[in-house]
Amino acid sequence: MEMEQLVALCKRRGFLFQSSEIYGGLNGFWDYGPMGVELKRNIRDAWWHDMVTSHNELDISPGAPSTYEMTGLDCTIIMHPQVWKCSGHYDLFHDFMIDCRESKRRYRYDQVNGRWVEGKGKRAFVTTGAVSDEERQEDVQRKALKLFGLRAKHVDQLQWDGPMVSLTTLDDDFAEVLGPDAKTLGTLTEPREFNLMFKTYIGALGGEESVAFLRPETAQGIFVNFKNVLDSTRVKLPFGIAQVGKSFRNEITPRNFTFRSREFEQMEIEFFCHPDSSPDWYTYWRDRRYQWYLDLGLARERLQLRDHDPEELSHYSCGTADIEYAFPFMAAGEFGELEGIAHRGDFDLRSHMEGKLVRQGDELVVEEGEDGKPRHRGSGRDLQYYDDQTKERFTPHVIEPSAGADRATLAFLCEAYQEDEVPNEKGKLTKRVYMKFHPRLAPVKAAVFPLVRKDGMPEVAKEIYGQLKTQHNVFYDEKGAVGRRYRRQDEIGTPFCITVDGQTLTDGTVTIRDRDTLEQWRIKKEDCLAELTKRLTGG
Ligand code: ATP
Repeated sequence: MEMEQLVALCKRRGFLFQSSEIYGGLNGFWDYGPMGVELKRNIRDAWWHDMVTSHNELDISPGAPSTYEMTGLDCTIIMHPQVWKCSGHYDLFHDFMIDCRESKRRYRYDQVNGRWVEGKGKRAFVTTGAVSDEERQEDVQRKALKLFGLRAKHVDQLQWDGPMVSLTTLDDDFAEVLGPDAKTLGTLTEPREFNLMFKTYIGALGGEESVAFLRPETAQGIFVNFKNVLDSTRVKLPFGIAQVGKSFRNEITPRNFTFRSREFEQMEIEFFCHPDSSPDWYTYWRDRRYQWYLDLGLARERLQLRDHDPEELSHYSCGTADIEYAFPFMAAGEFGELEGIAHRGDFDLRSHMEGKLVRQGDELVVEEGEDGKPRHRGSGRDLQYYDDQTKERFTPHVIEPSAGADRATLAFLCEAYQEDEVPNEKGKLTKRVYMKFHPRLAPVKAAVFPLVRKDGMPEVAKEIYGQLKTQHNVFYDEKGAVGRRYRRQDEIGTPFCITVDGQTLTDGTVTIRDRDTLEQWRIKKEDCLAELTKRLTGG
């Protein structure tokens, strides 16, 4: 599948639109249309149901070290600014950026690559923003030829000096660098820090003391409410708190459709446990979350679980894995992150108690400012846990499965896109596009059609529609040829179509058609609701 085909289908059938499209759109922001909103809601609901509400805390789940409890929260997007100081986002949540004075474009410093090359006695470091190795070399070669005024047939006059390397290896001297979109040398600025948090002001005054941030993750709301949850419920360790909600990051290079957006939705769990059992819980959550995507239809050959190398781990983490999907816009063999599962130790709860932490040797200690006081003071609240059976007091360890609802939606959209050839009304084979969503995720569960708009068929179809509508999101359509109506449902991934025809009027049966196999069979019209419910729930 080409990404353009999916993007076109998403727009045509109301899954995704560019935000503020009539004004030319806004880079990094996307709206979900009538079909997209249902799909994304089904994904969020499936996550909440499978992780939280259907979890049985009395039984040991397969693979879990013991029983555990699950509960939820819904916190605000704007929180006390000290939250982000102690969490580390205020100091650390930045990327280095370079600007091009000529093209007026901005790039992430570590994402620009290039090669030294000589031609016609001149030398330059020619850069590219391309992602795959093949594209990079092609791009650099094309630009080098242009820069030195050489024709394509004189490509052998280019003398390459060394392999393709990151711009970060150049020691900030960019005088001989050709920017990714520049025509002349030396137009790139030196790298500058860029904080990814969106800044805003609380209240009417707007001074520096009223600065606040839109949350860049939902997790911190859970940590700062840890004590509230303990005190207001009877949960006991081990337990998890889940939250779904919007997060905001002023990404420098939003791209790849919704994959990297500036406003997106996260589905996060903070799972609190005893330090001794935390490695086992980490393994449990990592495997459980991987299986969840498989169960909802992502193909194993496109889904990978990648454990981070020790040097890739954050300063507080004892183990992190990413669940990654081979999105069609990535180069062959490359994967994009859907979800990260991190063992975060006691970093977060301690930071909110004691103040922002830094690693010193093997230990985490409160970072000090020049005056010897904590650089960012914690809340001073006791966020420890007291186990009244073992009489032990300790700071729980945290396992964090952190997923993106938009990236999951995009992966399910990519996975669902299918093309095949099926006979049309005249028996001629024609191309069909259909979205093979898992029935739990499909935006519309069934469509009901009268074959023709006469002979009492619409009346029967409307009656069936009314019954189904009480429990499922279904669609009624009586316009146009029935073949066309089927195709329209296939394109939005409706798993079943129910048709009232001439036979219905004599024997009371209707046809039901399966989206994937195109199989059709007859059922009694009064059995439609039971049959649909059974098929949707896999019964
Ligand atoms: P990346 O390296 O791709 O920027 P990240 O490692 O910064 O991602 P996390 O901070 O671990 O991401 O966030 C958890 C999840 O939130 C990610 O796995 C992803 O699904 C989602 N997410 C993060 N940033 C974005 C974004 N800009 N747009 C859409 N989803 C995002």
